[in-house]
Amino acid sequence: MSKIKMVNPIAELDGDEMTRILWRLIKDKLLLPFVTLNTEYYDLGLMHRDETGDQVTIEAANAIKRLGIGVKCATITPNKQRMEEYRLREMWSSPNATLRAMLDGTVFRAPVVVPNIQPSVRTWKKPITIARHAYGDVYKGVEARVDCGEAFLSIGDSKIKIHDFIPSPQSTLQGENSGAGIVQAVHNTDASIMSFARASFEYALSVKQDLWFATKDTISKIYDHRFKDIFQEIYDAEYKERFAKAGINYWYMLIDDAVARVIRSEGGFVWALKNYDGDVMSDMISAAFGSLAMMTSVLVSPFGQFEYEAAHGTVTRHYYKYLNGETTSTNPIATIFAWTGALRKRGELDGSSELVAFACKLEAVCLKTIEDGYMTGDLAGLAVNDVKRVLSTEGFLDEVAGRMQG
Ligand code: NAP
Ligand code: MG
Repeated sequence: MSKIKMVNPIAELDGDEMTRILWRLIKDKLLLPFVTLNTEYYDLGLMHRDETGDQVTIEAANAIKRLGIGVKCATITPNKQRMEEYRLREMWSSPNATLRAMLDGTVFRAPVVVPNIQPSVRTWKKPITIARHAYGDVYKGVEARVDCGEAFLSIGDSKIKIHDFIPSPQSTLQGENSGAGIVQAVHNTDASIMSFARASFEYALSVKQDLWFATKDTISKIYDHRFKDIFQEIYDAEYKERFAKAGINYWYMLIDDAVARVIRSEGGFVWALKNYDGDVMSDMISAAFGSLAMMTSVLVSPFGQFEYEAAHGTVTRHYYKYLNGETTSTNPIATIFAWTGALRKRGELDGSSELVAFACKLEAVCLKTIEDGYMTGDLAGLAVNDVKRVLSTEGFLDEVAGRMQG
């Protein structure tokens, strides 16, 4: 069997701990036997980030910009404990935050749905995709504790007196006599909200599903309302007709209304959310659909670049077991789907139907393997099969590899 060739390269971002082990195994067992991989490799393992003063993360982001497509392994975001564990020179920032800041855009998170893994919410029949705005709000906020009722916050080069900055009566800081408190200021830009809106509309069209968008504009009459207005203006001007042609709808609702509707829904739609709401809701949706290990994630930049990854972290607990020589049962699905997402997109952009077909086949084989009752430990308690085989990390990958050869 001749191997599939890739016309153009993708950026490959390696990572840490158990997912780094998975990365190697997935390449060796499921990709390299079938595809001559054409990647630009960047080692975002924590040690190498430290050695390069985190330059490697910036180089990787630039490679994604240049090549259009990247696939990323989960990485450690260092904290104090990791500083000591890895004897780091600095507490480097989260690679994902660096990538999001450099690529801008929207993160789409979708659960991988298998018929024998039933969601906790009985009405859900189809996946719910979260479209999370990846810029601004509390993630780029400034905050402070204040002793009296007056505080200054720096935003960029300007210093703003908080009383002047927030004019509405309910949000002025407590009066000077009311003692200590806390203040926070957040921002966003019209340009970033517009690209969030367009990315969400485009994604909904590409999967032919309704788009929901929710904020708290009744309380946040300027901030959240701006999001609502921008979405509506762009929808009316650019997407209304295309949505009608595709037979899909755009719905705006209040966030609390949306949460209640989501729980009563059948699924099968894209739910656009502001940065923090998307952070929280994507974890809830993935847990309710089954396992964090079954949640895929893709960052879509407004300039048409795509970065694919698993939604979960480096699975540290399993890694320490692995280092101890114990058997692990780590679910590789989200990481495999990061690769298939990137390869399928490369195939689509390069007009390589072979590469597209390979990505689709690998996904289908993974799902069928689980459906047939072969799975990792995290799914065992959720699956409804009569006969189940709980496999090790390697055992599951070997089962999928065998079926790919067959
Ligand atoms: P995590 O790696 O997602 O793991 C949390 C727990 O979820 C695991 O201990 C495991 O539960 C379960 N789990 C996650 N993925 C699994 C898989 N593929 N197969 C089976 N079970 C899985 O989160 P964390 O432990 O909070 O974070 C670990 C490191 O990852 C941190 O250093 C953090 O900075 C980093 N992180 C990176 C990213 C990213 O790069 N995108 C995202 C999040 C976190 P059991 O232990 O019960 O089996
Ligand atoms: Mg989160």
